[in-house]
Amino acid sequence: MKSNHYECLIIGGGPAALQAGLFLGRASVNSLMIGIPEKSDLAYGRVIGNYFGCGNEAPGLTLLKNGVSQIKKYGVEILKEEVVSVEKMENKSQFKVLTETNKEFLADNIIIATGQAYIKAGLEGENEFLGKGVHTCVACDGIFYKNKKVAVIGAGSHALQEALELSAYTDKIAIFTQGEIPNWAKELEVLAKNKGIEIKNEIVKAVQGEKFVKKIILDSGQEELMDGIFIALGAASSITFAYKLGLEQKDGFITASREAETNIEGVWAAGGATGGNAQIAKSVGEGCNAAIGVIKKVKGLNQYIDQT
Ligand SMILES: Cc1cc2nc3c(=O)[nH]c(=O)nc-3n(C[C@H](O)[C@H](O)[C@H](O)COP(=O)(O)OP(=O)(O)OC[C@H]3O[C@@H](n4cnc5c(N)ncnc54)[C@H](O)[C@@H]3O)c2cc1C
Repeated sequence: MKSNHYECLIIGGGPAALQAGLFLGRASVNSLMIGIPEKSDLAYGRVIGNYFGCGNEAPGLTLLKNGVSQIKKYGVEILKEEVVSVEKMENKSQFKVLTETNKEFLADNIIIATGQAYIKAGLEGENEFLGKGVHTCVACDGIFYKNKKVAVIGAGSHALQEALELSAYTDKIAIFTQGEIPNWAKELEVLAKNKGIEIKNEIVKAVQGEKFVKKIILDSGQEELMDGIFIALGAASSITFAYKLGLEQKDGFITASREAETNIEGVWAAGGATGGNAQIAKSVGEGCNAAIGVIKKVKGLNQYIDQT
């Protein structure tokens, strides 16, 4: 049977993750990349004109596809799924990573390359009540909602996972899919239904309150009393993982050194996840630095030279 243990696990599927994978593969570090390249921001770039060697005409998807072939050639495995949870194993220098279909992996090192974090839901009052009833991370703020009524907004696996984590605090949870057809993993849906989490296809339009949120307004005009709203659009973000692992962060981005190291040994962060210029060149540079850090650690090197 195939082992679920890797020397390095990359979370992400964009330029930062693929560049990291390329360096790791070439250095024969046993690595797995979990992420969906077609969901990278770059997949939406029709013509990439400012990235070295692209000849002013390569569409983003072509770059991503080429990147996937390159890292596969060097033996990096790819799993096209979302990661929903990461935790540090007790008394061990290893990390446990869980995917949306409940697959579990162990890794000695992790590179977080999940791009920029929080996706806004565009609710009226969302900005005004951010941190005062509107939240973006159950690991950070779920504890404030013991026995309270909460809504989770989203239609992907991340929304279900956030709702499941909230169920440790309250049993009054409803997920609003904002009229979207859910695209979450069935395994998580079964767990959520078993916990009595309601799934509603309605659209939340606004949040209202005074100092804190008191109610939500639906598209139909109907009002519902609500203590808290957790926005969980898209996938689990770098900030979700940062809270779970205790990584330093600032303004919604993971804090990393020039070498892409975080404050936790064995965890690197690269690309949009660390903020700064939203450019391919910046992401691949940091992906490269993160991978070199991992290679040096795994191989016990002071200096890295690509001898492939
Ligand atoms: C329309 C458009 C045009 C652009 N044009 C240019 C351009 O011309 N030049 C340029 O330099 N830049 C351009 N950009 C910006 C560029 O795409 C980004 O800077 C770059 O893609 C960031 O790379 P990244 O790897 O850090 O993050 P991303 O590309 O955002 O990749 C993040 C990856 O992580 C995955 N992920 C997220 N959460 C999870 C999870 N929980 N589990 C597993 N995987 C997860 C995502 O699915 C995605 O695959 C453009 C962006 C857009 C939207």
